[in-house]
Amino acid sequence: MQTTLAEAFRNTPEGEVAERILRSCVHCGFCLATCPTYQVLGNELDSPRGRIYLMKQVLEGATPTAKTQLHLDRCLTCRNCETTCPSGVEYGKLLDIGRHIVEKKVGRGITESAARAALKTGLGTPPLFNTALKLGQRVRGLMPGFLQARIPAAETAGDRPAPRHARRMLVLEGCVQPALKPNINAATARVLDRLGISLSAAPEAGCCGALAHHLNDIDAGLASARRNIDAWLPHLDAGAEAIVMTASGCGVMVKDYGWLLRHDPAYAEKAARVSAATKDVSEILLAERGALARLKPHAPRLPAKRIAYHPPCTLQHGQKLTGGVEALLADAGFELVPVAEKHLCCGAAGTYSILQPDIAGQLKTRKLDNLTAGAPELIVTANIGCLTHLQSGTALPVKHWVELLDAILEAPM
Ligand code: SF4
Ligand code: SF4
Repeated sequence: MQTTLAEAFRNTPEGEVAERILRSCVHCGFCLATCPTYQVLGNELDSPRGRIYLMKQVLEGATPTAKTQLHLDRCLTCRNCETTCPSGVEYGKLLDIGRHIVEKKVGRGITESAARAALKTGLGTPPLFNTALKLGQRVRGLMPGFLQARIPAAETAGDRPAPRHARRMLVLEGCVQPALKPNINAATARVLDRLGISLSAAPEAGCCGALAHHLNDIDAGLASARRNIDAWLPHLDAGAEAIVMTASGCGVMVKDYGWLLRHDPAYAEKAARVSAATKDVSEILLAERGALARLKPHAPRLPAKRIAYHPPCTLQHGQKLTGGVEALLADAGFELVPVAEKHLCCGAAGTYSILQPDIAGQLKTRKLDNLTAGAPELIVTANIGCLTHLQSGTALPVKHWVELLDAILEAPM
C-alpha cells in the first residue's frame, strides 16, 4: 500500500515499523473472512483492512477521532488476520503502534480512564485480585445467577511436588490464574515431575505485563517485562532449562519481550534470551513425548472420554502453535470431537469481555455452540481468560488440558 508518513512519524523507530507493515498490505481483503469482529458487526471499519486503513490515515497526519478509537478498541487482538493474510502483514505490531498514537491524541473520559486503571491494577495485582475473589466466593450463593456465573467457585490445587530433580524449569504463576484455577500450575508441576523435571517459580516475577500493554499503558507493560527478566535470568544462568507458560495469553507476551525491548540497550539482549527460553507447556510436553508415552494412563481416573478443545488465539495465531495439544490429548486416549470455526476467537481477549461485553457475548455463544455440537463431556482450552469466559456460559466443565493429563497419568512403568 502506497504510504507517506507524516513528519512526526518519519524516521522514528515506530514510524519505520509501521511504514514497513503498511506497505506490505496489498488491500486484498482475504482477512475479512476470518475476522471475528467483521463477522459479528459486518462493518469494514471493524475488519483488519478497515483498521489498517484508519491507522494509515493517522500515521499520514489525519487527526484521529473517538470513532477511530472505537474501531481500534473493538479489535480483539486475536491476530486471526495474521494467520489468514497471504502477504504476511504483521497486524498486531501495527495495532500496538496505532492504538498508542490514538490513545495519546484522543484520550479517554474520566469514567472510562478510571475503569481501565481499576482493571489494570485489580487484575494485575495478585494479592488484590485474590482478596476480591475470596470475598466474592463467600457471598456467591447470595448473588443472582448471572453474577454467580462470573465468579467461579473456590477450587483446590492438590499437592505440588517439592523440587527433587536435576532438570529444572521455571513457571510463570500468572496474576489471576493462581486464585481462579490453582490446579493448573500444580497439575503442570506434577506432570513434569513424573517426567523428571522439577518446576518452580521465581518469587520476584509477577504479571507478564500483557494487561497493561493491551490497555495501552506501554510503560507499565515494559516495567513488568524488565522485572520478570531480572527475576528469571539468574535461574537461567543457574541451569533452568525453560520458562514454562501455562496461560497462552502470558506466553505470547513473554515471547515478545525481545521485540518490545529491542531498543533498550540495558535489556535488549537479556529480553531476547528470556523470550527464546519461553515455551508453552505443550511445547515442553511435545519435546518429552517419548517419555510421556512411558507413563501409564490410568483409565479409571479418566475424567471424561469425549472432549472438545478450544485453541486460544494467543496460542494458534499469536504463538503460531497448532496441533500440539490435540496430539498430546489423543496420545493420552482422549477422543476429540470435531469443532467448527476453530480459528475464531471466543471473545475473552484479556479485558475485552469486560470492556466490550456485547461483542464478547455474541462470540462466546457462537463458540460454545460450536464446541458443544459434538456432544462432548468436557471442554478444554489453554488459557485462563478463555477458560473462565467460556465457563460463564455453560454448565459443562471447562478445564485446562494439562489438568486432564495430570489426572490420568501415573509413575513410569
Ligand atoms: S492484511 Fe493481508 S489479507 Fe488483509 S487486506 Fe492486507 S494483505 Fe490482504
Ligand atoms: S486481530 Fe482479530 S479482531 Fe483484530 S482485526 Fe485481526 S482478526 Fe479482526
